[in-house]
Amino acid sequence: MTKFRVALYGGNNNEYTIGQLEKLAKNDKILSDLHCIYCNCLLTFHHAGKRAAYLSTKVGCKHSDECDKKVHVAMAKERLQKKYVGKEVLSRAQQARLARAGYKAWQNRKSSIAITTKSKTSVSKHVTKKTPTVEHSAYRPVASSDGKVPTNDGLQKRHTRTPIVTADKLVNYIGQAVKVVGKIDGNVVVGKRKANITLYRDNQKVKLVLNEATFMNSAEGLTEALKELKKYIVNDGFNALACAVVDVIPDKKGNPVCMLRTDDAIVVNGYEMRMALHILRNTK
Ligand SMILES: [Zn+2]
Repeated sequence: MTKFRVALYGGNNNEYTIGQLEKLAKNDKILSDLHCIYCNCLLTFHHAGKRAAYLSTKVGCKHSDECDKKVHVAMAKERLQKKYVGKEVLSRAQQARLARAGYKAWQNRKSSIAITTKSKTSVSKHVTKKTPTVEHSAYRPVASSDGKVPTNDGLQKRHTRTPIVTADKLVNYIGQAVKVVGKIDGNVVVGKRKANITLYRDNQKVKLVLNEATFMNSAEGLTEALKELKKYIVNDGFNALACAVVDVIPDKKGNPVCMLRTDDAIVVNGYEMRMALHILRNTK
């Protein structure tokens, strides 16, 4: 995504798009007098080479704070539109598989950090490699407006990229499915066919939102299971580590909200939530 799509020509104050600038000869005088449309800061045009043609800020020039904000907003908007074009829907089976894999990866990563010191570099390398560029992974657990998640779409083997994302980075993933991990906090809020689950990780909180559709896409008795989970955490100090596949959607202010679309999409201590509770019940 390029930051500047248009530039102002100082000679006549007309706006030129990258496409229009590309057609000009390299020595055209327009190219030597291009400005930011917001703050008039000087821009440099680069003809297509290894990458497509683009505009950059001229060395030594600084955009105004106001301009930075405007550009940021425009880019966020564009990102959002681009991502919502994606029609890929993750089925319940896929979400379950991804949540299990995410849990495993998270645990492996944690234990490798604990065991060796040099793993720190290899871990970050691993993360860099797996972290997709935003445009390439527009997966969403749910695409349809009624919020129904297909049980199984037969695409289990298909390669899906849902990175594990920390709370502070969620804003970059609005419009797609990601994995979030953490310890479930005892403050599980259970209402009538809606609920919240909070995950803690390195002093960061991620709130998972379960709505009417989540309950519709889950096995019967989810309310009771959540109440039981809460009771075990609060009363027995149950250490519930979870990985969830969530759909990151924007709230009215554009802040990221993590929607859990089905109970299949959350794994607790390596198991489907109710299985984890079942095991706990039998070991008490
Ligand atoms: Zn500017």
